[in-house]
Amino acid sequence: MSTLLLEIVTPERKVYAQEVNMVSVKGADGELGILPNHIPLVTPLRIAPVIVKKDGATEEFAVSGGFIEIRKDKVVILAESAELASEIDVARAEAAKKRAEDRLNAKADHVDFKRAELALQRAINRINVNGK
Ligand code: ATP
Repeated sequence: MSTLLLEIVTPERKVYAQEVNMVSVKGADGELGILPNHIPLVTPLRIAPVIVKKDGATEEFAVSGGFIEIRKDKVVILAESAELASEIDVARAEAAKKRAEDRLNAKADHVDFKRAELALQRAINRINVNGK
């Protein structure tokens, strides 16, 4: 089966670099299933799972924003954060979710709602990815 090189990079670390068979992401315009020889493309990513198929196995990452660059034989995900499912601290994500929900419910002037909404999305995404 043909492969492409997938790299997942954040400002902090190289999270992943492997030859894989397929990558599935949620881009700005919806789901993208990427196989080798996909047309070149650069697009922003949503806060969503990234699913990787390699040698019949599936791995899942919680990715928070950033971009994907698709080239013929290489895909680079430049994300603000990315964690493999097994790396996710669920208690931390639950606490972040609660904090964000409290802020969104506060209806106070000083709350940055967009920021709280994004924190909530990151927390929910992490909880979902870890739970699969
Ligand atoms: P928190 O409020 O718990 O810090 P956050 O969504 O604000 O959550 P980020 O700014 O997205 O956190 O991430 C900061 C760093 O911490 C990144 O390296 C990210 O991978 C890591 N990280 C955040 N939440 C978790 C988690 N629940 N489990 C493992 N790593 C996490």
